[in-house]
Parts: sequence; structure tokens; C-alpha cells
Amino acid sequence: MAQAFFGGVHPHDMKAATNEKAIEQLAPPAVVVIPMSMHFGAPCTPLVKVGDHVKVGQKIGEFHGLGAPIHASVSGTVKAVEPRPYSMGGNIMSVVVENDFQDELSEEVKAPADPDALTVEEMIEIVKNAGIVGMGGATFPTHVKISGGIGKVDTVIINGAECEPYITGDHRTMLERPEEIIGGATYLAKMFGVDKVVIGVEVNKQNGIDAMNKVIAEKKAPVTVEPLRCRYPQGGEKQLCQAITGKQVPPGGLPANIGCAVFNINTTCCVYRAITQGMPVVKKVVTVSGSGVVEPKNIECPIGTPVSNLLDACGGVKDGSYKLIAGGPMMGMAQYTTDISVAKGTGSILVFAGNEEQTVETPHCIHCGKCVSVCPMHLEPLFMYRYASKNMVDELEAAHIMDCMECGACSYACPARVHLTHMFKLGKQLVKDKAAKEKAAAEAAAKAAEPAKKEA
Ligand code: SF4
Ligand code: SF4
Repeated sequence: MAQAFFGGVHPHDMKAATNEKAIEQLAPPAVVVIPMSMHFGAPCTPLVKVGDHVKVGQKIGEFHGLGAPIHASVSGTVKAVEPRPYSMGGNIMSVVVENDFQDELSEEVKAPADPDALTVEEMIEIVKNAGIVGMGGATFPTHVKISGGIGKVDTVIINGAECEPYITGDHRTMLERPEEIIGGATYLAKMFGVDKVVIGVEVNKQNGIDAMNKVIAEKKAPVTVEPLRCRYPQGGEKQLCQAITGKQVPPGGLPANIGCAVFNINTTCCVYRAITQGMPVVKKVVTVSGSGVVEPKNIECPIGTPVSNLLDACGGVKDGSYKLIAGGPMMGMAQYTTDISVAKGTGSILVFAGNEEQTVETPHCIHCGKCVSVCPMHLEPLFMYRYASKNMVDELEAAHIMDCMECGACSYACPARVHLTHMFKLGKQLVKDKAAKEKAAAEAAAKAAEPAKKEA
């Protein structure tokens, strides 16, 4: 079994509610609300207007600079192009499509005649046009990760850890669609020019490991599966790289700094579907679970499906439900409305009911040091908390707050229930704001100096 990383925690995985249930297809929603920002980078510009007819797979959002295009997930009529509530916070420009239930496929969706004859450049172009991003939640554009890593990356890793409690969509994908994962991994090996791709999977998914190993043997694929210890956050990119290669990503660095590129299981399936079928990202498998959900399930639904539709498909929510989270319980974001919709990075929707809330209104640190011992990034959360709550930005920077991956392990371990991770999100923003102010001041100073230079 692959060696583990420093720190981490071992929460109850709570996966039994859904890990033996096959992925269900959602009955087509009457309306989809497709956000124009589902990737790392600037939002897309909508390419359609109210009244337009769209088809499945048609490009409806164009990216600029760093990003990925966005496609219609149902056929029908555009009813609105306007800001709507977004799972990552606030409102975001969205294209609202009324489903005509005809499931008409766009002429833009064309399968390559011979996928295995494609050049590396052609495959990267297909990945780009398919709008593939890090589907595990990071949402970094996949074509950029591939093209930027070629020649520098010698270890391609598929992240099958799925270490957050409750979430089982990747596990079910391993069991039900192992050919897509192994096929996508094989294309990634070809694109990076490496002999082998490693899929890291926590050992609580042994039947998923067996299913993929069977396909690897049948296809003689250049892929191996590496069982990993169950320890949160094993699925963090840096922790996964360390567990598999034994090498540590340097502070402030990326997996590419140690020759690694990491892709999510779902991303790998999207690569396979794009290269073999020409299909862009129009669907997502979402785990709907938690104590407040009547019948927890894994559901595949069109991108843009309102979360209220997913909850209805699970029998609704129980009386006394008090919290809705998009994402896992450790890193997800609490939501104030079910009007948010499923985006490319949405892996789970959790609802909690009953007596599970353990927050403390005004918590006090008891200096036990547990947060330090579990931080996988070797940070000192108790000091970072103090600095962030007092707006001590220089001290925050010196404490390397920007290396915090917001994994939530410190908050989970803290016996005093100090709101550590929440405070670190705010603290990181303080550091970013300071950097932006300094940059603006430097630019203004340079501009002011220009006439003087000319005169001289
Ligand atoms: S949230 Fe940040 S500080 Fe806390 S354990 Fe994770 S990386 Fe460390
Ligand atoms: S775990 Fe909580 S109580 Fe203990 S030192 Fe860290 S912040 Fe303080």
C-alpha cells in the first residue's frame, strides 16, 4: 500500500448510504440553469440570447484566456440570460433553457473517425472544445494542464481517493464504467508520452480496484492501480502525489514541480467520451446524501439541473433539515437556497437534519495543539487563526497561509470547535487584497514616473 502523508484525520466515511446503489439517471428537468463560470478563470461570454433554440452539446458560452467553453445540456428554448444563485457564492450570469424533451443532439457533436489515430495536438484540441475541467471541484481547465505539462511531467496520476465522507460518485463510476476510466487514462498516457498512468484509490473501494484491474488486464492498458490508506485528505493533489511518488510538492508549488499531473476520475471519463464520441461535458454524477435526505442516491443529471430537482428525486428532505452543502462535509460550501444548479465541479449535495450541528458561538482555543498535528501542510492553524482574526496580514503571510488547502482537517480535530477553516478563507482573501493593492500602487507609481522619464 502506498505510503501516507503527514497529518490528516480519519472521520467516519458515511458512504454506506449510497455506495451500493447504482447511478440513477435523473428524469429530464423542465428547466436547466447553466452558469457561465464553471472553471478556474474568467467567466464565459454567453453565445445565445432569449428565444434561441439550442441542442444538446451546442456551445453556448465562449471562454477568454484561461477557461473552457460551456455547452447546452438539454435541447430547448433559451428563456433567460441573467444572473442566478451560484453554488460557489453570490449570483453568476447563467443561461436558462426550457427543456423541449426532444434530446436533439447538436451537429457540433462529431465523433472522430479513428480516435486511436489522433495526434497529441488533435486530442488536446478535442479536450479543449469539450469544455473539460477538473471535475473533482478544482475546475482547472484540463487542456491547459495537459499542454503545460507535456515534456515536464513523468508521472500521470488519476485521483480515485474520494476521501471526503458521504461522497461515492467516483466509487460507483469505477464499478459501473471502468472502461471509460481506463480508456481515458490510456489517452492521457499517450498525450503526456508516459509509459504508465497510476490510479490512486483508497482501500475502502476494493471492489472498484478489482473492477478496474480486470479492464486493465483485458485491454493490456498502460495503467496500474495503487491502493492507498484511508486517511483524509488523501485526495488532496499534494498528498496524493506524495503517497504515490514519495516526493513532496514544495511550499507554494504545484504537482508539476515534482513532475506530476493529477486528474480526477470523472475528468478522465470526460476525456474518454470527448475523444471517442466527440461529447462535451453536459452531464455530471452527483451524490445526494446526508441525514436530511429521505433516500440518498447517486444521480447522473444534466449540467444546470436545479438542486431542488435532485432532492425531489431523492424523496425530498426530512423535517428539521437545517443545512444544505454543495460539496463534501469537509470542504463544501453551505448554501442558503436550493435554487443553485449543478455545475461541472459539483460532486455532491448534502443535507443535514437532527442534532448534528456542533458549532460553538464564541469558541476559545485551549492550546491543545491538535490542529498542528493534523495539518497535512505542516501549518500552525492556531496562530493563523489569531492573525486572521486580528487582520495581521504580514504575520499571516509569514505563517504561509496561502499554502492552506482549506481541507478542514484542523476544524474537524479541534475540540474547542474554533472556526479555523472559515477564518483561513477570509485570511487568504486579506493576503490577496494586500497583494492586489501593492500591485495597483506599483503600476500607478510606474505610470506617474513615465512623463518624467520622457522629459529627461
Ligand atoms: S484547513 Fe488549512 S490549516 Fe487546516 S488542516 Fe487543512 S491545510 Fe492545514
Ligand atoms: S485544536 Fe483548537 S483548541 Fe487546540 S490548539 Fe488548535 S485551535 Fe486551539
